[in-house]
Amino acid sequence: MLEEKEVTDLLREKGFKVTPQRLAVYKVLSNTTVHPNAETIYNELQPQYPTMSLATVYKTLDILSELGLVQILNVGEESFRYDANTDSHPHVHCMTCGRVDDIFGVDDAEFLEKIAAKTAYRLSGKQFYLYGICPDCQKKMQKIH
Ligand SMILES: [Zn+2]
Repeated sequence: MLEEKEVTDLLREKGFKVTPQRLAVYKVLSNTTVHPNAETIYNELQPQYPTMSLATVYKTLDILSELGLVQILNVGEESFRYDANTDSHPHVHCMTCGRVDDIFGVDDAEFLEKIAAKTAYRLSGKQFYLYGICPDCQKKMQKIH
């Protein structure tokens, strides 16, 4: 995650305007691990930036992803989710409440080797999404039954 000054410099360097709204969108993302979509970010910033439109949030997310500051997650919902941690790491998605969690510290080298051997591809990237039911939702289900 970058400091505000670094984000400012990077935006300027690449010819993008630096606005408080753009910096605020990045700030929301770098302070959360819930992988919000554009609408969630928009709602969170509404009280602070009442004149900002949802379109501005989308545009900003496009710019941030173009600059490599955020990664886009497609967990199979209607809208994308965003993560300011751009290191490659798997995500797990709760099919019941929609929550998306990071998975860190699981070594996938052997798995990727097997895939490369099986497909004869020289792999250049990866994006893992896993699906299931989160611990909270499992507990709720147990209460109902
Ligand atoms: Zn859940």
